[in-house]
Amino acid sequence: MVGAGLAGLAAAWELEKGGVDVIVLEAGRRPGGVIVTERRDGFIVEGGPDGFLAAERDIQDLARELGVGDRLVSPLAKGSMLWTGERLEPLGEGRAAELLGIQIAGESELAQGFKTFAGGMADFVEALVASLGSAVRMNQGVTALAPAARGWRLAVTGGSTHEAEGVILAVPAWSTARFLAALGVTAGRELEEVVYHPSITVSLAYRTDQVPAGLAGTGFVVDPDAVGARHAVPLHVRACTYSSSKYPDRAPPGYALLRAFVGPGVGEGDPGAVTHAELVTILRLEGGPLWTRVFHWPRGLPRYKPGHAERVAHIRRRLALLAPLEIAGAAVDGAGVSACVRSGREAARGLIRRLAG
Ligand SMILES: Cc1cc2nc3c(=O)[nH]c(=O)nc-3n(C[C@H](O)[C@H](O)[C@H](O)COP(=O)(O)OP(=O)(O)OC[C@H]3O[C@@H](n4cnc5c(N)ncnc54)[C@H](O)[C@@H]3O)c2cc1C
Repeated sequence: MVGAGLAGLAAAWELEKGGVDVIVLEAGRRPGGVIVTERRDGFIVEGGPDGFLAAERDIQDLARELGVGDRLVSPLAKGSMLWTGERLEPLGEGRAAELLGIQIAGESELAQGFKTFAGGMADFVEALVASLGSAVRMNQGVTALAPAARGWRLAVTGGSTHEAEGVILAVPAWSTARFLAALGVTAGRELEEVVYHPSITVSLAYRTDQVPAGLAGTGFVVDPDAVGARHAVPLHVRACTYSSSKYPDRAPPGYALLRAFVGPGVGEGDPGAVTHAELVTILRLEGGPLWTRVFHWPRGLPRYKPGHAERVAHIRRRLALLAPLEIAGAAVDGAGVSACVRSGREAARGLIRRLAG
């Protein structure tokens, strides 16, 4: 396994379940990829994904298989608002995602709402890692993949190598493209078409008495047109989730936790201060935040160009001609966390079939 994001961990779990000896090589210092949950002073702060649609079964099914199904929790509040530039107005179901350019499911799936884990998304990562034990190795960035007598040889940062009968690449698209191109799979270069959009998430903590106007619904989205027309200086905040209203136990009693999505144009300044200043206007906050926590995502959510699924199918047909090698994750099969779980498990099943064949 290359990559210990959600797709890589789910794939490794499926491989172990299938009786395959597995090692997960992860370049970073921690598992989970873009899932980053920080727990501090009774707050649960999400840097990356904070939940998923309740209609998405794959992540929930795996949670139950891992024995953490009881950690799944539902939102406390419903509905989003639109910041028109002058006021917050109720927003129709699904419009928030549409305005943010997030490709998601149809109305019936949206109507079922969202879910997350009681201790944050890291609950799920921690359960996967615990089940895999010492198979998950940090600080092991794979620098090269080459054919070997029986399968593959993987070179790792620091100079060590591993041999494996089969490999799953569960890394971002640009990295998958590079590995495949080096193997002569020129079609793999097409994954460079997957564009990762930069974003910044800013979490801010307040006492609830600093939010005297209250927080209606689960958050708001800024209407890009209306704000452009009415404000001399456009807002950097594009959307804000009221984390402590949306999900249980995101903040201790008497405190509010907000999480804003901020455009990369926030510049060199302190994104926490800029975000707070803009939220003061929108939410009529009183006083400064108790603290802010900023996460930079220079390459955040992937977006696919038309024809992506056909390109991926073409690449997979080419890979079928090589020793067992699968590709998985948000690079290829959908950006949502549940899609990544499904992608990882399917890649593992494919690898098991190839190893047995
Ligand atoms: C800010 C943000 C908010 C999001 N919010 C949501 C949400 O609310 N709901 C939702 O469903 N989805 C959300 N998503 C999308 C979703 O979280 C991701 O698409 C998904 O988690 C990606 O999982 P992955 O395993 O495919 O990739 P990643 O999480 O990117 O994992 C890939 C791993 O591979 C490692 N790696 C890379 N190169 C190498 C190498 N050469 N050798 C070894 N390891 C390597 C990386 O270090 C990383 O750990 C969000 C994403 C972002 C960035």
